[in-house]
Amino acid sequence: MSRESSSLESEWLRSVDYQPRTRLVFGPGSVERVGEVAREIGAKKALLVTDPGIVAAGHADRVREFLHASHLDVTVFDQARENPTTRCVESCVAAAKSANIDTIIGLGGGSAMDTAKGCNFILTNGGVMQDYWGVGKATKPMLPLIAIPTTAGTGSECQSAALIADEKTHQKMACLDPKAAARIAILDPRLTLSQPTRVTACTGIDAIAHAVETAVTTKRNPLSLMFSHEAFKLCVKALPEILLNPNDLEARGRMQLGAAFAGLAIENSMLGAAHAAANPLTAHYGIVHGQAVGLMLPAVVRFNGEDPAARQAYAELASAPEIASVSGDGHEHAWLALINRLEALLDLTRLKSSIEDVGVKPEMISKLADEASHQWTASFNPRRLAKQDFVKLYETAFQPRAPALHHDSAH
Ligand SMILES: [Zn+2]
Repeated sequence: MSRESSSLESEWLRSVDYQPRTRLVFGPGSVERVGEVAREIGAKKALLVTDPGIVAAGHADRVREFLHASHLDVTVFDQARENPTTRCVESCVAAAKSANIDTIIGLGGGSAMDTAKGCNFILTNGGVMQDYWGVGKATKPMLPLIAIPTTAGTGSECQSAALIADEKTHQKMACLDPKAAARIAILDPRLTLSQPTRVTACTGIDAIAHAVETAVTTKRNPLSLMFSHEAFKLCVKALPEILLNPNDLEARGRMQLGAAFAGLAIENSMLGAAHAAANPLTAHYGIVHGQAVGLMLPAVVRFNGEDPAARQAYAELASAPEIASVSGDGHEHAWLALINRLEALLDLTRLKSSIEDVGVKPEMISKLADEASHQWTASFNPRRLAKQDFVKLYETAFQPRAPALHHDSAH
């Protein structure tokens, strides 16, 4: 390999094309500004997309009151579902059409925001969700979207992708379009206090997985690495603090910023094999996304770290001061410390540690591996994976995880 071609493969010379699309409004109580910021972008009639849990927590009523106080008409669609399907999006579109709206507000976890984005595609560009599977398929302008996350995890508020599952096959379709990105994201850490512990755990692990996967993809670049590293530093420290003290608002704030930065990392770097392997687990067994990603992540980091460049990228991620015990001992030491830290975090969440524990049967591994190898996100993984590599990853994830060598210093 010539010197020139090897330097062109350096992540520091990889091309970047980044246009910030989402205004970030962060701070405790920032949700109270929703009416004001909606008026600033000309909103008069808004569709509020949310789910029954968020209604029960009282968040939907509060947001509606803030919007009313700014003289906006509000129609509520509160039937967003976990892993939203094409049918869920169609009912949301029906609600939007009958109300003649000019703005969409997604309030909730990734599912509510994905439903809001999916609705925006069909409402403005027609057709069905399948038409937008891929990149840049919408030709007409879309309505302004305001995203208000109530979890700290998916980073959907900072991404231009809507993830919608096909009603029949449960195959997740990633529909990416810059026009689908939220115009404004309101990050109010107080909204995340109402999450059940299990949701905090699953979404928190998802955010950390986003930071870890984006730090090593074939698309990583100086800008995406900035977001990956900052997201990792924030989340890896905040998640154990929140699990110990769910009302720690400062830690909630760091976690929410970290999840948003990890979303920006995805926007600029895509994801890798842990997400490719997790999606079939969700499709066949209904395993919650963050849990599925957490089950696969340690095996993927082990697998990828066999590649020297990926190992160095992991080592650089792990050299953050927040990872105790790592110093200048070399890439292998830092990479192994990262795996150990991830396993310790997974132990802390008390989520299941083997895919056998969530009901996966060994005879399904071949089918799961086949589907994982066809996932789009697999193509950005730093090591190329054949179906057989995914078989090995699932076999590794089948084994109960040994307890990590040492737990977080806070415990
Ligand atoms: Zn994810």
